[in-house]
Amino acid sequence: MSDCLFCKIVAGEIPARVAYEDDQLLAFHDINPKADTHLLVIPKRHIDNLNHLTEADAALMGQLLLKLPVIARQQQLNGFRTITNTGVEGGQDVFHMHFHILGGANLPGF
Ligand code: 5GP
Ligand code: ZN
Repeated sequence: MSDCLFCKIVAGEIPARVAYEDDQLLAFHDINPKADTHLLVIPKRHIDNLNHLTEADAALMGQLLLKLPVIARQQQLNGFRTITNTGVEGGQDVFHMHFHILGGANLPGF
């Protein structure tokens, strides 16, 4: 998606502080962190959000979920919060599916 912010980060057209990368996934620091550690984990392939998943995405989603604690551990997080906002009514601002990892000090209450 040429007009998608996170696709541009994947393509290296917009800079980001990358924390983890493999052939399918990218994790980078949120530009406006809501906790001491705030990462966004995305599939490199554009998917709008959870509402747009199909059976063909099952393996990719499995990989993404499995990598969340790996990435959190790399950030020295013993515990963390994962959020994914889906759709305008779910508070989604960037329409390239992403999982927030929030942790460290100053984790806001929920
Ligand atoms: P959403 O509200 O869609 O769940 O979360 C979007 C997140 O993307 C927000 O936490 C926001 O701070 C972050 N964000 C927006 N633009 C950029 C950007 O250009 N770079 C990075 N690293 N994060 C961004
Ligand atoms: Zn995208």
